Amino acid sequence: MDQDTTCRQLLEKALSDLSRERDRADQLQGLINHDSETGLMMRHMLVRRMNHLIGTGNERFAFGILRLDRNYQRIRHSRDKLKVLLYVTAERIKRVMGEGNLYQSDRGDEFLFILPVSRGEEGISKKVTEIMEAVRMYHNPPASDIRFGCNVGVAIYPDHAVTISELEENAEIALGIHEEVRWGGYLYSPEIGAKYHENNTLESILRNGVMDGFSGFHVAYQPLVDVKGGVIGCEALMRWDAPGHGAVSPTRFIPLAEQSGPIVYLGKWILYQVLSQVKIWRETLKPDLFASVNMSLVQLEQPDCVEMITLAMNSHDLQGQALQLEVTESVLMENPEVVRQNLLAFQQMGIRIMLDDFGTGYSSLAILNTLPINTLKIAKEIIDDFPGDTRSVEIVRAIMSISESFGFTTLAEGIEKEEQYRGLVGEGVDVLQGFLFSEPISAADFQNRYLSPV
Ligand code: C2E
Ligand code: MG
Ligand code: MG
Repeated sequence: MDQDTTCRQLLEKALSDLSRERDRADQLQGLINHDSETGLMMRHMLVRRMNHLIGTGNERFAFGILRLDRNYQRIRHSRDKLKVLLYVTAERIKRVMGEGNLYQSDRGDEFLFILPVSRGEEGISKKVTEIMEAVRMYHNPPASDIRFGCNVGVAIYPDHAVTISELEENAEIALGIHEEVRWGGYLYSPEIGAKYHENNTLESILRNGVMDGFSGFHVAYQPLVDVKGGVIGCEALMRWDAPGHGAVSPTRFIPLAEQSGPIVYLGKWILYQVLSQVKIWRETLKPDLFASVNMSLVQLEQPDCVEMITLAMNSHDLQGQALQLEVTESVLMENPEVVRQNLLAFQQMGIRIMLDDFGTGYSSLAILNTLPINTLKIAKEIIDDFPGDTRSVEIVRAIMSISESFGFTTLAEGIEKEEQYRGLVGEGVDVLQGFLFSEPISAADFQNRYLSPV
């Protein structure tokens, strides 16, 4: 072997080593930059891109967070099947928004994206709607007929924030509102930001009130009336006077309490308040009076939910007939099996179950057929237009016919006018509730007005 050949061989070997090293470095870089399950670029690549956009000057762009909803968290499948689901979801989103704009978040159930805002906010709104629809489509085998959705939060640079951390924080605020309170939509705004901080303040006052022996909370009772106008029961509604804020509507504080946990304590508190009140009323004034108490999904999902209610009924020595529980349609959609089991257990105790705000959600007949329900409560939104609007009359008739075929009783809420009352009785509604009869009032007023012998 001459010297030239040896040199060439050494050189070739060195070059090939170098190229292998480079391939390995590229591979390593690829691994660092891309998520192994979805193949998407990771968050740090997005941060780099945003830094670049911010650095180049006046580029306006939208930063978004897309988080899969509770129905995704509840899927019970093997890791492999979940990987497939996540991969398919990422592919669907990519198809709508273009590959280079979608990134994998550090959380497994979350994606991040960036969109140019050149076409204005309507362009983003259209894209986000398309993405949400794409995610919501059914997943076929290998993951069977699974469906989940997502929530989205978007903040725009530089309108809503000028640094990356602020952008992330504001998109997270918009997402949180979309996810939990559902009053703001997905796009950040200064009003949403202010509401978020106010909610945080209210939430901590609420928590303090709960820990301070439920100070500031009380119960209001609204009569439930039969077709002849006689009071047969009451709905118990929670009231809260927040220190420094005055009366806060339950439509505001109940969702706050649901998100952060105190609803479990508040729910138990109101149940005990109501049962001790009903016990007195049944024993002294009206033996067949019952109370209707609203129940949140969070409460129904507690492992000791049935035990808690059994204990409450027993400790007041009350039969199931004294209590009725109100759940909303959304509750039934969320976790059907657990909810079904618990509701069934309540029914076996003689407690009646009412489907609140019926007609505003998306209950399918299949759900009505499988879940233990006694009464449908026709939502105020439908009653509002009754009987003036012919469509509302048709809806009421349709509900009455569903009720009849399933053997439910019906209650109509939000009755404010005499003609609604008369019309609904004519349609065959069994129980009525609304300001026409009375607003929710204190226990003392309820007793004086409806229970005291004349
Ligand atoms: P809901 O269970 O559908 O209660 C009926 C709501 O309609 C009550 O509002 C009641 O005051 C109101 N209402 C009744 N009749 C009329 C009427 O003729 N006209 C009008 N304009 N309104 C009428 P409220 O007390 O503000 O409660 C709102 C919601 O908050 C309740 O809706 C329920 O979902 C929730 N909530 C209240 N108390 C509790 C509770 O103790 N636990 C839970 N989980 N939720 C509660
Ligand atoms: Mg109710
Ligand atoms: Mg209602």
